[in-house]
Amino acid sequence: MTTVARDRFGRIINYLRISLTDKCNLRCVYCMPEDMIFRPKHELMQDDELHSLVRVFASLGFWKIRLTGGEPTVRHNIVDICRTIAGTPGIRSLSMTTNGILLKDLAAPLAEAGLQRVNISIDTLDSARFRRITRWGSLDDVWAGIEASERAGMTPIKLNAVVVRGFNDADVTELARLTINHPWQVRFIEMMPFGDVAGFAKEQIVTDEEIRARIADEFLPLQLQDDGQLDGEARLFRFPGAQGDVGFISSVTQPFCANCNRARLTADGVLRLCLLRDKEVDLLTPLRNGASEDELRQIILDGVWWKPWGHGLAEDVI
Ligand code: SAM
Ligand code: SF4
Repeated sequence: MTTVARDRFGRIINYLRISLTDKCNLRCVYCMPEDMIFRPKHELMQDDELHSLVRVFASLGFWKIRLTGGEPTVRHNIVDICRTIAGTPGIRSLSMTTNGILLKDLAAPLAEAGLQRVNISIDTLDSARFRRITRWGSLDDVWAGIEASERAGMTPIKLNAVVVRGFNDADVTELARLTINHPWQVRFIEMMPFGDVAGFAKEQIVTDEEIRARIADEFLPLQLQDDGQLDGEARLFRFPGAQGDVGFISSVTQPFCANCNRARLTADGVLRLCLLRDKEVDLLTPLRNGASEDELRQIILDGVWWKPWGHGLAEDVI
């Protein structure tokens, strides 16, 4: 029988988000400063190291993997990486969170390599505002990426919008309206005040109630789905007769820590047990020092055991 990774609260941890790189081809205002300095390549997991660690995680019952970043599509051999991960015994779900800029050309090869679904970040449907938020991006590229992903069969398409007061809070109704004629899930994400952008963040968080009130005012009220049961981390709503859903991910004001089954592997090979707490375990150093798969499994199991319960971010914010 497979040993599964379980924490001291009884949560089974089987969902791994892997940051493939810290680099990005955009500089979203809520994510990183314009003059961001990235880590030297040798400090990050090389392909063979990444694949070794994925095999170890899979042997501990991690079956669901989401690739993220930075921007995962800027890793030069992303298609081969997806192929190897998708083919790792035990991995049943492989998805990616991406800004979509490069998907126009990459969606088809990624799907063919085994990538099953994409979440694409798109904070506004207005080109000028898109550029203001991402500093460098072109909305047309993202839109072409969404269409290419749909053609490649990576469905259901999920679109992520981080809502920031003063930047895109006026766009929420237009984004939600996309679900009328498309079978997409448009998800509004509460901005988390962290990292280099923590200072500007707190006053600019927009809560899900506020977003729904605005949508009801400007268009139609949304109807709660599934009695409010979470779909992953999102609470789903729908317009009457719509093809898609509108989701709310309210990690700050309504954290979903009780059901948290995830861990994150950073691009430099560190296992983080909570995005917003410091508990972390270095895996790359022992791997480079020759640790066996059994030793790595034990390091992961010990780390997961001490996964923090929750982030308590709301105490600071509301
Ligand atoms: N570059 C990819 C992208 O933008 O989708 C993947 C990495 S990005 C860090 C993953 C997700 O985190 C995106 O949906 C992004 O909008 C979101 N994000 C970034 N900074 C955030 C913040 N301060 N609060 C909440 N979500 C944030
Ligand atoms: Fe951050 Fe993703 Fe924006 Fe890049 S595209 S700056 S990783 S949110």
